[in-house]
Amino acid sequence: MVDVHGVHKSFGPLEVLRGVDLKVRTGEVTVILGPSGSGKSTLLRTINHLEKVDRGWIGVDGELIGYRRSGGKLYELKEKDVLAQRTRIGFVFQNFHLFPHLTVLDNLVEAPVSALRRPRKEAEAAARLLLARVGLADKAGAYPRQLSGGQQQRVAIARALAVEPKVLLFDEPTSALDPELVGEVLDVIKDLARTGTTMIVVTHEIGFAREVADTVVFMDGGVVVEQGPPAAVLDAPRQERTRAFLSKVL
Ligand code: ATP
Ligand code: MG
Repeated sequence: MVDVHGVHKSFGPLEVLRGVDLKVRTGEVTVILGPSGSGKSTLLRTINHLEKVDRGWIGVDGELIGYRRSGGKLYELKEKDVLAQRTRIGFVFQNFHLFPHLTVLDNLVEAPVSALRRPRKEAEAAARLLLARVGLADKAGAYPRQLSGGQQQRVAIARALAVEPKVLLFDEPTSALDPELVGEVLDVIKDLARTGTTMIVVTHEIGFAREVADTVVFMDGGVVVEQGPPAAVLDAPRQERTRAFLSKVL
């Protein structure tokens, strides 16, 4: 389970997260919607400690992220312990962020071998299975630049899965893609949802949210305005701000 508890985050005078609470149960998919600047990316980045929270805390499977608790006080973890935690929290970016100088296979093998100390042979075998799963078994030897955006994003998803993450975070995974490539990436995410991968997905794809989300969260102004099952939040929103947003994107 991912537990975001009373999280505040400011950049200088700008308070971007103003007390966010969110629980994501293991095996469930949460879709986060909200206008530009509402703090969606910042929230994802605090979950894997790319950003430190100013107040509140985040737990993943009962483990505090970035801190340890001792005698009722919080102490910051050492960098290597933060990296170990981050390794098990997959992150898929809008712009893929593949290693351009590595083949597709090596992109998938890198973290398991260097961070998790898996034997290379074993990591390669697992990587080939993951590539087959995202429909790219024949691209193991290709370089990222030789792939379409949709293929690159599917590689990025396979790479995120290669470390057997406790949760996968997606930040607008299809918004950099040409429209005809969006479906193939959403299909991969849907397949992961069916097999019980815990995921938090920031997206503007309302149809996807309706079909795949267990919970839809609407954020605005650095807080969770409304959350619940897709049918409730998307079809019968209770908050005026949610209604106003949906009327613009639907
Ligand atoms: P979008 O839909 O456009 O991606 P978002 O909901 O993801 O928006 P964030 O990227 O979380 O929004 O940004 C929220 C606010 O915080 C914005 O006003 C942004 O300019 C600001 N912000 C984000 N990161 C930083 C940073 N590192 N330094 C200063 N300001 C930042
Ligand atoms: Mg964003």
